[in-house]
Amino acid sequence: MKYECPKCQSQLKYWEEILFDKERTINKRTGKLNKKVTRSNEIELEQHGISCTKCDFHYYGNENGNDVDYEHLNAIFDQSINERGKG
Ligand SMILES: [Zn+2]
Repeated sequence: MKYECPKCQSQLKYWEEILFDKERTINKRTGKLNKKVTRSNEIELEQHGISCTKCDFHYYGNENGNDVDYEHLNAIFDQSINERGKG
């Protein structure tokens, strides 16, 4: 099994959704937004997956039934979880 798109053999990418606020203070006098943007702490959402960089292939892990063809891709999800543990 290669770590490439099962449909078109292109490069795969791993993605995860992260939520954060872009915060800008408001000028007391003018009511204008400050140009300086700060980011709030990140909140990791449940959504993550593997997609192809070329076609519409998507894989969201084996939560929704076991897809044996893509089982080798599950290790990629673990990699991300392990990296998070270190940070
Ligand atoms: Zn593809």
